[in-house]
Amino acid sequence: MANSGQKVVLITGCSSGIGLRIAVTLATDEKKRYHVIATMRDLKKKDKLLEAAGDVYGKTLMLLPLDVCSDESVRQCINSVKDRHIDILINNAGVGLLGPVESISIEEMKRVFDTNFFGVVRMIKEVMPDMKKRRSGHIVVMSSVMGLQGVVFNDVYTASKFAMEGFCESMAVQLLKFNIRLSMIEPGPVHTEFETKMMEEVAKMEYPGVDADTIRYFKDVYLPSSIDIFEAMGQTPEDIAKCTKKVIE
Ligand code: NDP
Repeated sequence: MANSGQKVVLITGCSSGIGLRIAVTLATDEKKRYHVIATMRDLKKKDKLLEAAGDVYGKTLMLLPLDVCSDESVRQCINSVKDRHIDILINNAGVGLLGPVESISIEEMKRVFDTNFFGVVRMIKEVMPDMKKRRSGHIVVMSSVMGLQGVVFNDVYTASKFAMEGFCESMAVQLLKFNIRLSMIEPGPVHTEFETKMMEEVAKMEYPGVDADTIRYFKDVYLPSSIDIFEAMGQTPEDIAKCTKKVIE
């Protein structure tokens, strides 16, 4: 349980990558300012987080299951937090989708929107009433540079982040009246499983129904140059976690 001086921080998508690193960075804060509720949709994946967090588990770090695509899971998770009191919500969970749009089904596109856009909306709707009552709170959203600029072969991912940016910009104005801050973080390329998994998978895939020129451009030009960009400019999850800590301080 949080001490009176500690801020309760709930983070989504802590099984890997940026979310895991934010959870560890805040839970190991040298001044113990944060009581971190790290959530993940499958608690069987908790070992990597617990290993990285060391002995703070059970002290400044606790775990809860949460699937941001499920209304019921979101409700249950927030209800299980003492007095539903969350000072800082960090919406980090997200999925990518890369490839020629002709090769992507509407169902896959909906999954991306359900996670990256409606996942954030569900969380904000659930925590907002209690933050409004207390007239305090901070909501952080992990967007992307792709929430600001369209990027070829990332059409649907980009659209989901644009949608979230629009939603959050509008919400930020309403929330300010209640002394609730809403911040967006827009990282460029970050070396995580997210990016590696995606690039490896798409490079192996066949693209039936897509014209040969597009496939050639995608596989021979786009993918190698993206990998180069990740290698040359890629930040680490630690960089983004430090930035997130600065944003909430
Ligand atoms: P990872 O794939 O490493 O992590 C994504 C996390 O989101 C995982 O914990 C995953 O859980 C979780 N997640 C996915 N779907 C759900 C769901 N329905 N409910 C709860 N959790 C879910 O990727 P990153 O750490 O890179 O991505 C984190 C965020 O950063 C995303 O929002 C992404 O868009 C954003 N971002 C990433 C960049 C990058 O280059 N990597 C650049 C800019 C922004 P599970 O293990 O169960 O799949």
